[in-house]
Amino acid sequence: MRQVTVIGAGVIGLSTAICLAEAGIRVAVHAAEPPGQTTSMAAGALWGPHLVGSDARVPRWAEVTLARLHNLTGQSFVRVCSGMTAMAGGEDDVPEPPELTAGSPGVTACEPADVPPGYRFAWRLSAPLISMPEYLSYLHDRYLQAGGQPILRASYPSLAAAVAGAGTPVVVNCSGSGAHRLVPDPEVIPYRGQVVVARNPGIARFFVGTGAAAADLVYMFPHGDRVVLGGTEQEGDWNTEPDPDTAERIIAACAAVEPALTGAHVLAHRVGLRPFRSKVRLEAETAGNGTTIVHNYGHGGSGVTLSWGCAQDAAGLALEALDR
Ligand SMILES: Cc1cc2nc3c(=O)[nH]c(=O)nc-3n(C[C@H](O)[C@H](O)[C@H](O)COP(=O)(O)OP(=O)(O)OC[C@H]3O[C@@H](n4cnc5c(N)ncnc54)[C@H](O)[C@@H]3O)c2cc1C
Repeated sequence: MRQVTVIGAGVIGLSTAICLAEAGIRVAVHAAEPPGQTTSMAAGALWGPHLVGSDARVPRWAEVTLARLHNLTGQSFVRVCSGMTAMAGGEDDVPEPPELTAGSPGVTACEPADVPPGYRFAWRLSAPLISMPEYLSYLHDRYLQAGGQPILRASYPSLAAAVAGAGTPVVVNCSGSGAHRLVPDPEVIPYRGQVVVARNPGIARFFVGTGAAAADLVYMFPHGDRVVLGGTEQEGDWNTEPDPDTAERIIAACAAVEPALTGAHVLAHRVGLRPFRSKVRLEAETAGNGTTIVHNYGHGGSGVTLSWGCAQDAAGLALEALDR
């Protein structure tokens, strides 16, 4: 039987493993952390490109994923949500909609009176909003239902060790920020993101605001009785422990936009490392022993947004290698 091993159990690894298993391949997933402990678990998660390297393939990957998410909108973990993105901008800034709105239909500029305090420009849009804890469970179940083997916990110090541990003719590397050490690929830089999960005081629309600096992010993503509050974008910071002062600052910044969040009831803190790279690495290479390694990592702040498009392409490269 044709066999492939996927390294990584985040949104990229699971989506890729599903594409392969549903194509009739015997798939194993090896991962240092299970889905619930990955960066993918910390995502908000809104469909829309953000903090991703410039790459002509990004719009197509995003579009493929958008179509897949639309097909899932009957499920509890994904819905098309309306909301607002706002920019503080500088005095000289031209009011251009931020990258997050690229590919979203019906983006409309807000009247000055509707722009929240602290911001100069704002736009309304609708986009799929995904609840990651439920979505990762769904992906995991779908992978197992398609015949995938139970996830094996394994932390590999190198690609050679991963290839040896996998023992399959094709290995797909979906290690996210772990690729920095695993490949090793110094081009992969973490952008640390901390979020607060709070009881939802009745927020129905999402909000994403960028301050004077692009890393100065304020956002809130409502998921039923919970709301995910963010956030940070700390370049080169590998710390995965939540920082209490940062959490306080996040709540205060969100409450400045949405006063109902003052004194928010905190349910959980999460931290993830966005795997930024100048360009997503999605390509095949041949290891010394003849094993094909398909790389699928470096999705930055857009891993959920690009997941299905990249998974399809990575699975296609793996199938080509098996057929050779
Ligand atoms: C706060 C925050 C908010 C975000 N919001 C959004 C959003 O709204 N929309 C969006 O599209 N994206 C968002 N993102 C980005 C998105 O979460 C990431 O791009 C995505 O999760 C990356 O997925 P991944 O599967 O590549 O990596 P991960 O989820 O990090 O998974 C990597 C997997 O590889 C495994 N691994 C790594 N190294 C090794 C090794 N050496 N050996 C074995 N296994 C290994 C890990 O254990 C893990 O299982 C957000 C990120 C953060 C942090």
